[in-house]
This record gives sequence, C-alpha cells and structure tokens, in this order.
Amino acid sequence: MNDSEVNISGVVATTLPAVTTGSGRVRPLPSSDVIIADGVLAGWQQRNRAATVPHTIRQLRESGNLDNLRTIAESGDAAFRGRYPFLDTDVFKTLEGLAYELARPSADEASREFFEESVALIEAAQADDGYLNSYFQHPGIVKQPWEDLSWGHELYNLGHLIQAAVAASRQLGDNRLLDVAVRFADLAVAKFGPGGEEEVPGHPEVEMALVELYRTTSEARYLQLAKLFIDRRGHGTVALSVFPAEYFQDNAPLRELDSVTGHAVRMVYLAAGATDVAIEAGDAELLASVIRLWDDMVETKLYVTGGLGSRHSDEAIGDRYELPSERSYSETCAAIGTMQWAWRLFIATGDAHYLDVFEIVLFNAYAAGLSADGCAFFYDNPLQRRPDHQQRTGAEPDGELLRRAWFVCPCCPPNIIRWNAELQDYFAASDADALYLAQYGDASVTHDGLELGIRTSYPLDGEITIHVEASPGDERTIALRVPAWCHGASVTVNGTPAADASENGWLRLTRSFSAGDLIVLTLPMPVRAHGSHPHLDATRGTLSIARGPVVYSAEQQDNEYDLDDLVVDPAWVKAAELSSAQLSGDAPETVIISVPAAVDTPGRALYPELAESVSAPKPGEPTTTVTLVPYYLWGNREALAMRVWLRRP
Ligand SMILES: [Zn+2]
Repeated sequence: MNDSEVNISGVVATTLPAVTTGSGRVRPLPSSDVIIADGVLAGWQQRNRAATVPHTIRQLRESGNLDNLRTIAESGDAAFRGRYPFLDTDVFKTLEGLAYELARPSADEASREFFEESVALIEAAQADDGYLNSYFQHPGIVKQPWEDLSWGHELYNLGHLIQAAVAASRQLGDNRLLDVAVRFADLAVAKFGPGGEEEVPGHPEVEMALVELYRTTSEARYLQLAKLFIDRRGHGTVALSVFPAEYFQDNAPLRELDSVTGHAVRMVYLAAGATDVAIEAGDAELLASVIRLWDDMVETKLYVTGGLGSRHSDEAIGDRYELPSERSYSETCAAIGTMQWAWRLFIATGDAHYLDVFEIVLFNAYAAGLSADGCAFFYDNPLQRRPDHQQRTGAEPDGELLRRAWFVCPCCPPNIIRWNAELQDYFAASDADALYLAQYGDASVTHDGLELGIRTSYPLDGEITIHVEASPGDERTIALRVPAWCHGASVTVNGTPAADASENGWLRLTRSFSAGDLIVLTLPMPVRAHGSHPHLDATRGTLSIARGPVVYSAEQQDNEYDLDDLVVDPAWVKAAELSSAQLSGDAPETVIISVPAAVDTPGRALYPELAESVSAPKPGEPTTTVTLVPYYLWGNREALAMRVWLRRP
C-alpha cells in the first residue's frame, strides 16, 4: 500500500475507530460532532463521570495498579501488587476514558490529577528501548520481557497504551502518551515485523490499536504489523500452556475458521482487529471471512441479550446452540468487543443490521455489567439467577451475590469507563451521499453544515424528533436506521408522511432541508415475545420478553409466585401493560412490563415418566401477572431469583 492511497484526515476524530480510510463504505463522524445531551445514554455518561470514574481511580490506587508503575518509574523495590502481567491496561483504559472526560467542560480536578500523575509515571517507567510493562520490568519478577508471549500480555498492554494515547492526542491534543506508545510500537515492529520473530500475542487486542496508530500517524508499518499478527495466527503459533489452541484462536487461520471459538474476549477483539485490517488494507477476502464468522455467531452463539460466551471454563464461547441461561458467561468485555466488531463491520459495509446487534448488546449484555449506582460490576452476565445461587464466579477468591466493587482481574470496570465515555462516537456516520443516524438518543449531530437536534427518550419510547437547526441548503440525505425488531416504522417531515425509500434497514430522506424543518420518526414498540431455535435446548419451551431493543427479566421481588412456576402463553403478551417505575434509589425512572401469567407448580420427580401419548398441555387462563424489568437494571436490589426466559404452557 502506498501512503497516497490513504486519506488520513487531519481533523479530530473518534478514537475507536477513527478516521476510516481504505475500503470503508462509510466514515464515523468526528467525536466532537456529536454531543449526547439528555436521556438514557446521557444518564450513563453522567454516572460514568460522577461515580464510576472516581470509584475506579480509588480502586486502581488501592489495588496497586498505579503503584506498580511507580515502582518501575522510581526504580523502587516494592513488591509487585496483584497477580497478572496486564494490570497496566486497567490504568490505560481508564486514561482512554479520561481523555474524553477531560475534553468536556464538566471535567473535574481529581480526574485531571490522576491523568497527570499516571502519564508522568508511564513516561518515566518506559525502558530505554521503548519496552513498557510494570510486571516484567519489576526486579522481583523472574520472568524476562517477551519470554512468554502466550500469557505475558505485553502486546495486549501495548494495544491499550496505544488506544489511550490516540484518545489523548485526538481529544486533548496531548501527545505525551503517543510518544511513549510510538516508541513501544516501534520496538514491537522491529521485533515482530517483517523479517522478525514470527510470533503472535496470546491475547489479541493490539491489532485494532495498531490500525488506529496507523490512522493517526499515517505510518504503514503499524498496519503491516497488525496484518502479520492476523495472518500468522492459526498455525499453532502460540506456545501452549494449560489452554488448548482454540482458546487462542490458534487452531485455524482466521480466514479459514468456520465459527467463532475459544476465549470470547480474545475472539471478538481479534475479529474487530481483522475487520480494521480488512478495511484499511482493502482485503476483501479477510472481510468476507469476518462477515461469515459474524453471521455464524449471531445465528448460533449469541445470547438473546447480545452476550457472548457460554462457558465459565476457559471463559469460552462454547458450541453452536450451547446457551445455558444460569451459567451464561457473557463477560462484559466480550460485550464491548462485540460492539467494536459490529461497528467496524458497519463501517466496512454500511449495513444497518450490524448496528441492530450493536444496539441489542449495548442495552442488554453490556449495560447489565454496571450497577445503577455506577460503583459495582458484573464480570459475567447470567440470564438467570436461581434463588439458592451462592457464588457468581469461580474466578474470584470469595463469593458475592451480585455485582462486585472490583476484581482480582479487573478488566471489565475500566473497559466500561472508556466505552461510556465514547458512546457519542457510535451515533453517526457519513458517506458522500448521506448522513447516517446509527443509534438513537437525545443528542445534537453536526455534519458538513447540517445541524440536527435530536429529542427522544429512546429506548424508553420509540418516537424520535429531529429538528433541523441549520442546513447549507443543498440537497442532502439523512438516513434513519429502522431496527430489525421494528415493524411499521413511519416518518414525517413537517407533518407530511415521507414517501422516501426504505431499504436494508435505512429509511433515506433526500431533499433540501431548511432550518426549522421537523422530522419525526416513529418506531412502534409493542411488547414482543421471542422463542428459541429448536436446537437451542437450554431455552426450548420458554419465551423471553422484549420491547424495542431492551430485553426484560423477571425479578422475584416484583412477583408473588416463584418465578420458576410462572407460565406465559405467547398469545397473552398482547395484553401486556406498561408502567413507569424507579426500581431502586440509584436507578433512573424506567418502563416496567406486566404480562398475564398462569401458575403451574410441578411435582417433585426430577425425571417423571412420560405417558405413551403426550399431548400438549392446555395453556388454561391467566390467573396472575408477571412483572418484568429491563434486564440491564436487574440485580440492583436484594439478591433474589431472576429469569429472562419464562416457561410456556
Ligand atoms: Zn472483562
């Protein structure tokens, strides 16, 4: 590739991903062109600033993540704190989120102090050759740098350093971290680039970051290294320890892999990075491979919440249709990685259906990972909590009934910080013909002279009002996404139904807009019942309830009868009633659903003998109701039973 083929824009742009070049079908809008003003997502960003950031900074200080860097920076000999060689990344991910927060008028002094202190420690801790990892640099650690690529996470560390650095450079114009990241990246290029050691990182992540560094610096060597890491993997390249090759996606080359496999977070980070490489290198074969993997994942391996990962063992994705509710792993980081992948596939293709999945993940598997007060986290996100469930995860030293304040492996909390800080980056995109509204929320969007004020309480409500606040006057297309879950979407412009074409999930309005024009998009949101594919044994014979993109769950505290005894016929869902409620003191007002239900208390036999001729039991009549709350708000009260999937007659 030659640099003249690459159109790197000098404007401030989004961090993940940024200025898309190469063969991308659409480009994301620069971060500064979208401001989330109000509503559900603004509430998430406000909670991030007010609660999650201060909580996480406190945890990073108390847990030793920052002190580990300090020990190296000051050539000290304090013992390494924590267990893992990737604890620097929790600082890096927090800094990435803070780069966004410090660019806003609401930035607070404590965040700025942490940012400054951390940057100074990172600069001072970097070795003369550019290497940086407070674990391997520690005098008390026997292992040597680069000795254990399968488990060392050094290139994963580099990846998160690059992403923090790019965010700081783009959002703040602060290149101090970028200088550190470039030195480390150049060391990696020298060691693993063309003619170097033919190795790959045990934990993919650096691939996305290297492409982002390429977009930022225009230096093709970073894209080249990302591509090498993609293509080397899958040939038994990773030195195996206790994990099988599938865990590392090293059992087959990505271009030949027939299904998403292994460790869930590794898989989606790898696929997102491969999609970046496909876009920037114009690699159609690689793009076709990741699209094939995506389709297989969505059709056979994704939970109804958008969660990915069915096994606690190896934090693995599992087999096709292996989707148990109570042992769903659905790591919060896997939700973020799935959204990163979805967004890149949208950038590559312009197809709305990737955004539909993005939205399902955002409002369900991802959002459930954080408590209503912003200070406790789920690492794994089950779809059912049994009343006698004692310990959530085997990865932590002691049990906790619901979300935890922190983890020994704290990858998820700072990942939430950066993602909530960056939500505006995933709102809109453009191409030569149109401005695409990819997600809905109360926000202002500016693009090429067109200024839109979007007012909505989405996803609590499906009405989206778009005020044209300024327009250059020439003909423009505004493309509105109509989610796959929505039937009967309609749109008016200044009160007149718009007859413009709707195709592939986009409703395109093409005209010369004027300031003062009013577009009203109505996405009907009746309560829906979903079943499962017949091969999905774990939830066959049950149904789940959704409204708009939000999946609902029943919690025992709202229901008189044992959740396991409640039976809902799909036909009864039409009689569902909505009401508004605040589930806990910290939670925002939300929409709760009441659905007619019957009560069926089974006998005690675990395996009752079936009669020779079994006819389907009659549903009978509903005798009670089941109350359902948004799944993402579950677990903010007393730890009782919860179910997403309810029995059918
Ligand atoms: Zn995680």
